[in-house]
Amino acid sequence: MIKLLFVFIAQSHYIEAPIYHTYNEILQEADSMARTYPELVMVDTIGYSQEWHQPIIAVKISDNAHVTEREPSILFDGVHHAEEVLGAEIIMSTMWRLLNGYENGNDTCLRFIDSLQIWFLPVLNPDGHNIVTSVVDTGWRKNARDNNGNGRFDTDYDGVDLNRNYGFHWYDAVERADTTPSAYFYKGPAPFSEAETRAMAEFCRREKFVVVVNYHSPSYSMGEKIYFPWHWPDHTPPFPVDFNLIREIALNMAFNIPMDDGTGNYTAVYGDARMPNARNWMYSTYGIIALTPEVCSRRVQIPPDDVPVVIEHNQRGIFWLLERMLSTSIGVTVLDSVTGQPLLADIRILEIDTFDVFPLHRQTDVRTGAHFRLIQSPGTYTLAISAAGYFPETTTVRVNQGTRTDVTIRLRPRKVTGAAQDRMKVYFYAPMDGDYHLKLFDVSGRQVRDFLAPSLNAGNNEYEITMQGLSSGVYLLDLVAPDKTSLKTFKIIHIK
Ligand SMILES: [Zn+2]
Repeated sequence: MIKLLFVFIAQSHYIEAPIYHTYNEILQEADSMARTYPELVMVDTIGYSQEWHQPIIAVKISDNAHVTEREPSILFDGVHHAEEVLGAEIIMSTMWRLLNGYENGNDTCLRFIDSLQIWFLPVLNPDGHNIVTSVVDTGWRKNARDNNGNGRFDTDYDGVDLNRNYGFHWYDAVERADTTPSAYFYKGPAPFSEAETRAMAEFCRREKFVVVVNYHSPSYSMGEKIYFPWHWPDHTPPFPVDFNLIREIALNMAFNIPMDDGTGNYTAVYGDARMPNARNWMYSTYGIIALTPEVCSRRVQIPPDDVPVVIEHNQRGIFWLLERMLSTSIGVTVLDSVTGQPLLADIRILEIDTFDVFPLHRQTDVRTGAHFRLIQSPGTYTLAISAAGYFPETTTVRVNQGTRTDVTIRLRPRKVTGAAQDRMKVYFYAPMDGDYHLKLFDVSGRQVRDFLAPSLNAGNNEYEITMQGLSSGVYLLDLVAPDKTSLKTFKIIHIK
């Protein structure tokens, strides 16, 4: 009887077919990739799931995968929504395809892996994925947050919709972002209340992705579409400053993905900005070109024989996108002009970033000083580069069709260095009006300078002295009042 029951269940749920991964299988397969290709694969744990503390892994594929290089970064992630498992399958298959291609000398795979830092995050929501793949609830969407705090997982009350938990328009979300814990679209108790979304936010801050592809499948909506940022009613402007570029990329990626029934290709549509999802947060915060493909036409888990077709179709979009990452663009590297160290800098293109406060940041990767930006139209652009503690700079660059223009900018530090270091300010309290002397002695007690600070008023004062012409060493500066009494002695270490 038990055996018969098992067969019945297995036939009822496509998710139990071997082609669909469990989360443990994904972890094991990622480890096996890293062992097989240790130079090309790095497995990174970017955080742990909210309820059951499972590791959330991201896999980097690049030449010298363990080193952060000066190369554009892109991320493909899956399974914000637990039941939408096809994203994880597309990602697992694509990783193997790139690695096998590299090993076999495929020119395209070699170029992508050598020139890009390609990240894959198969499952952002491992708790929810477990609920689905263990057939507790194959239609589960959310994570496993224990909303009622009873220590059990309740399908009728627990979980947060991770793609409604991001910190952009969380408070004023317009639709399908609920405040009721039992709801399918429950947005959580606060923005970034969930460990999964916080891990993703930190991951984006660290890696400065140029493009992120968030895979979903149509659990309630129409499939075979790519959503992109954004339309924002009642905001000026209603479309973002990068709208034409993002639309170009979304349309081209969609055009390269055939529909399941062979009648055409995916389409691209803009989404509403007033939704606290990953796409809107990523674009508004870091200017990431964040795309949301809703893969497949027939809900979320399809017959196992149909899965390879959906994967192969979507890989055509992925390969187009990776090619685009290396096409018309700007690469800026910002360094300290004195030390040559890479800097965390903000970079604006004055011809494009003109009329909105969003995105908030367009920043270099502090580990390399590099910032990459895709450009829609070739031409001459003005870059404005700024960093805390440095003099800002502007420079013009020529961007050509189909290639990247690379520039290096060296910012001058604001703090006094070199020759200017000979000057220093002395701050002191003057007990009376009159002429003060600042007498400088070397360590042997010999007076080497006598600075006159004339006609000071009583109170707090400052006076600039110069150490020019003096050799390195320790000096004593004696502050002498108008009545010739010595008020204070400062110790000065002079380094040339
Ligand atoms: Zn979804």
